[in-house]
Amino acid sequence: MNTTGKHYKATSIGDIQAKGRVTLHNELALTGSELSINELPPGVSVPFLHSHKRNEEVYLVVKGKGRFQVDGDEFEVAEGSVVRVDPAGARCITADSQSPIRYICIQTEAKSLVQFTESDGVILEAKPTWMKQAGA
Ligand code: ZN
Repeated sequence: MNTTGKHYKATSIGDIQAKGRVTLHNELALTGSELSINELPPGVSVPFLHSHKRNEEVYLVVKGKGRFQVDGDEFEVAEGSVVRVDPAGARCITADSQSPIRYICIQTEAKSLVQFTESDGVILEAKPTWMKQAGA
């Protein structure tokens, strides 16, 4: 499934179970964020600490468990854990020795969000095609 319109781009990354890491910046032509889906096998760590120049990151663990480290603080993460890290934070994530860990990482420029949800969203009068009543 690859579909592009005036105001959107949709794609499928296929079988995410079979992929260790997928980045979607290019796939979706993202302009304000980077999104990656990542999986580390049991006992495997990202092999380096890293920080960012401008972007904060949010890590959302969607499966498995492991450990996270920021600026030397180390803590457990598991399905449902969400971690936000400032650009300067020295971070790393590892899978538990007995469990893989799958997580989504979203990068956005720190302090760039000026409005969101209700303050940025606009509810339109038009209805989705699947909500139009038959015979209307
Ligand atoms: Zn990063």
